[in-house]
Amino acid sequence: TKWVYTFGDGQAEGRARDHEILGGKGANLAEMCALGLPVPPGLTIMGDACNTYYRNGRHIEDGVKAEVRAGISGIEAITGRRFGAGSQPLLLSVRSGARVSMPGMMDTVLNLGLNDETVQALGHDAGDARFAWDSYRRFIQMYADVVMGLGNDAFEEILEDEKAKLGHETDTELSASEWQHIVFLYKKLIEEELAQEFPQDPEVQLWGAVGAVFSSWMSARAVTYRQLHNIPEGWGTAVNIQAMVFGNLGNASATGVAFTRNPSTGEKALYGEFLVNAQGEDVVAGIRTPQSITEEGRLSSGSEKPSMEKLMPEAFRELCRICSELEIHYRDMQDIEFTIERGKLWMLQTRSGKRSTRAAMKIAVDMVDEKVITEEQAVLRIEPSSLDQLLHPTIDPRVTRQVIGTGLPASPGAATGAIVFTAEEAVEAESEGRKVILLRVETSPEDIHGMHAAEGILTTRGGMTSHAAVVARGMGIPCVVGAGTMRIDSRNERLLGIGVTLKKGDIITIDGSAGQVLKGEVPMIQPELSGDFGRIMGWADRLRRMTVRTNADTPADARAARSFGAEGIGLCRTEHMFFEGERIHVMREMILAVDEKGRRLALDKLLPMQRLDFTGLFTVMHGLPVTIRLLDPPLHEFLPKTDDEVAEVAFAMGMEAIALRQRVDALHEFNPMLGHRGCRLAISYPEIVEMQARAIFEAAVAAAKETGAAVVPEIMVPLVGLRSELDYVKARIDEVAGDVMREAGMKIDYLVGTMIELPRAALRAHVIAEAAEFFSFGTNDLTQTTFGISRDDASAFIPTYQRKGIIEHDPFISLDFDGVGELISIAAERGRQTRNDMKLGICGEHGGDPASIRFCETIGLDYVSCSPFRVPIARLAAAQAVI
Ligand code: PEP
Ligand code: MG
Repeated sequence: TKWVYTFGDGQAEGRARDHEILGGKGANLAEMCALGLPVPPGLTIMGDACNTYYRNGRHIEDGVKAEVRAGISGIEAITGRRFGAGSQPLLLSVRSGARVSMPGMMDTVLNLGLNDETVQALGHDAGDARFAWDSYRRFIQMYADVVMGLGNDAFEEILEDEKAKLGHETDTELSASEWQHIVFLYKKLIEEELAQEFPQDPEVQLWGAVGAVFSSWMSARAVTYRQLHNIPEGWGTAVNIQAMVFGNLGNASATGVAFTRNPSTGEKALYGEFLVNAQGEDVVAGIRTPQSITEEGRLSSGSEKPSMEKLMPEAFRELCRICSELEIHYRDMQDIEFTIERGKLWMLQTRSGKRSTRAAMKIAVDMVDEKVITEEQAVLRIEPSSLDQLLHPTIDPRVTRQVIGTGLPASPGAATGAIVFTAEEAVEAESEGRKVILLRVETSPEDIHGMHAAEGILTTRGGMTSHAAVVARGMGIPCVVGAGTMRIDSRNERLLGIGVTLKKGDIITIDGSAGQVLKGEVPMIQPELSGDFGRIMGWADRLRRMTVRTNADTPADARAARSFGAEGIGLCRTEHMFFEGERIHVMREMILAVDEKGRRLALDKLLPMQRLDFTGLFTVMHGLPVTIRLLDPPLHEFLPKTDDEVAEVAFAMGMEAIALRQRVDALHEFNPMLGHRGCRLAISYPEIVEMQARAIFEAAVAAAKETGAAVVPEIMVPLVGLRSELDYVKARIDEVAGDVMREAGMKIDYLVGTMIELPRAALRAHVIAEAAEFFSFGTNDLTQTTFGISRDDASAFIPTYQRKGIIEHDPFISLDFDGVGELISIAAERGRQTRNDMKLGICGEHGGDPASIRFCETIGLDYVSCSPFRVPIARLAAAQAVI
C-alpha cells in the first residue's frame, strides 16, 4: 500500500478529488500546491492508516513510518532545513484532516521538532531569540496537552502568574529570557505531574503527535460529533505534516482566516480576521481580539485597530489574488487559513465555506451572473430544508428598538425567547414546548444539543468564526456572538445589559442579522421572497417536472401558500374547518345526534358555513386545482370532554346532560385511528357526504361566477380499502352533483378520487382505479398502517429506535422507501394499468420532505402537496430530483 502522499514546490501526488483518501484538508493542500500557490511543503498520511493504527492496537505501522520519513526528507530538500537538528532546524505542524470538516473535534500539534538544542539554533537562524522561546513554550504546552494528556490549565496558570509577577499585560510583552524561564517552569511541571521528561528526540515527538491525531478520532467528542452528523467511523482521519511557517516571527508576521465572500450576507468581498505576530491557534482560542482583513470590514465593525489591507498591503493584494483564483478554480466560495511570515504569504487551508441560506442564495445567483456556474448548479447549491431560515420572520423595521446589547451578526433572522444559561435548560424547555434563547460566554461542542433546542443563541465572546457562529449558521438558528457590551453572571444567573439586569426566564429578542439584543418580545414581519430567492426558485420551477400543491384548509392558508408558489391545493382537510369557534358546537351536535333527523338539523346549519369556506378557497385559487377531502375525523377529537362542555352541548341540543354523557360514552372507541373514521363515517351517515358535496358544488358555481375561471373540484374519499366503499360514496356525490347542476342550470366538471392510505388499497389499486379518477397517497396513515405503529404514539419510542440504530430515520418524517415506498410504487403502477392518465400525488407530511420528494420523482408522481411554509422547499427539492 501507498500510505503517504507528498506535496511541495508546485508538485503534488494527490488532488482535490482524492479527498476520500486524503481527507478534505490534505486533498486541498495538494490541489493548491499543484496550482502553484504558496503552500508549505508537506505530506498527508491517508485516512486508512488510522484504521490500521486501531487494528494494530494503537501502533503506527512500520510501512507508514518509513514513508513518512521519506516524505520528511523531501521537505528537508525543498526547505534546505533539517528536521530537529543543525543550524537551520526544520519544524513541523501535525494536523488532523477528516473527509468532512469536524470543527474543533480533533487535535493539532504545532512547532514540532523543538528541543533544548534546536530552540537555540532557531533563535540564531531567525535572529530572534524571543520568537524561538515563544515557539518552544507553545510546543511544550500543546504537546503536553494533546499527546501527554496533561491539559492546558496548569500551563495557563503558570503563564498568568509569571505575567502578573513581571507586570506584563499581554504575551507580546514577554522577552526572550522571560519566555525561556517559562519553558523551564513548563518542563518542571511535566516532570512533577507525569514523572517523565518532556521528550527531546524529534522522532519520538513526531510519532507521539501522529498517534495522538489518530487517537483523537475516537475521542468522546469526536464520536458524538460523528453520531450527530452521520459520519461513518470507518473513514478514519488523515494526518497532514507540513513545514512550519511562522506567524509569530515579529510584526511583519501574522496569521488569519478568511471567507472569499461574506458568509452571512453573501456579499462579494473578502471577509475575515487576522492577528499580527501570532500563531493560528491564537485566532481560534480567542485570547486576543482579531483585526479585520479589509478596510471596509474594519470600518463596519468600528474597530480602531488597523486592517491587514492598511498594515500589510502587499500580502493583502496577494491574498485577494489567490482568493479569486481559488474561487474560480473551485467554483465556490472558499474558507481559507493563511499565515504571513515576514511579509510572505502562505496558504494553509482552503475548503468550501459554510454560509447562511441567504448568503448561499446570493452567492449562487452572483456566480451564475459571473458565469462561474450554471443555473442547474446554482439550484443544486441550495439545501432545500435550509430555506426554512429564509422564511423566518425578521423584526418589523417600524418598531423602535430597545437595544440592551450589541454583538456580531453571526446568523440571520430574529428570535424571541426566555433566557437560559445552560444547554440542558434549553433542551428541557424545548421538550416542554417553551421557546428559549441560549446564553453562553461562548459555546463549545458540548452545547450542541442545547443550541439545537434553542430559538436563538447569544454569546458574549468570540468572532464570526467562533464555534457558536459557525454552528448556528449551519443550523439556521438566529445568533448574535461576541456581545461584549453584555456580561453573563452565571453564578447568579443574571445577564447584565445596557441599563438592565435580566434574570433567567426573562424574555429577550435577538436580531441575528443586525447583531442586536433587544428587551422583551418585538413585532416581526415575514421575509421578502423576491430577489435572489425569486431567481433561484424561478430556475427550479423551470427545471422540475412535478407540480407542487399545498395542504390548506382555509383561504388564509391558501393565500400564503400561493405566495410561496403553490400550484393548487392537494389536500383540504374539511374536519379542520370545524374546530374553530361556533362551529365545533354544531359539529358536536351533528356527531352526537341520536338519529338521522337530528343529524340533518345540525348539517343544515353546517352547510352554509362549508359553502362559504369552499367559495373562499376556490376564489383564492382562481382556477387552480383544489382537492377537497370528505370528513375524516377520528371522532374523539370533537367530543366534549369536561362536564362543562357536556352541559353546554346538552343545552344546545335540548338534551339531559346525563343522556348526552351516555351518548359520548357510547361513541368511545378503543382505537379511534382504526375506528369509525374516513369513508366508514360516510357510509354510516351518507347525509354528511351529501351536505359536503352540496357545499362543494354550490361553492364551485358561486366561485366560477365570481372569478370567471372554471372551477374543477377534485373530491377525495379518505381511508378507502375496498372498491365497494368508494362506489357507495361516489354514487352519493354524483347524485348531488346532478341536483346542483340542474338547480344552477350550469355544468360543473369534477373528479372523484381516493386517498391511498391503507395497504389493501395500495395492493388493490388496479381495481379501485376503476372507480377512482385520481389517487393521492396519504403517507401518514399509510406509514401508520404499514408499520402498525400509531402515528400519535410513535414519539414515545422512535427516538430510542434511532439512538439504538434500529432505524435511521423517523418514517413519519422521511418516507420508508423499502416498505411504504414499495406499496406506493405498486399502487402507482397498478392504478395506471387501469387508467393510464390517472393523476397521482402525495399529501402526507412526506410531501414536504426533500428525500421523500426525490422518491416521488423516481416513481413518476404528478405532484407533491405539503404545508404552505414547505412549498418553496418542495419546489427546490423537486427540481434537484430531476437534475
Ligand atoms: C395521510 O394520512 O397521510 C393524510 C394526508 O391524511 P391525514 O394526515 O389527515 O390522516
Ligand atoms: Mg389520513
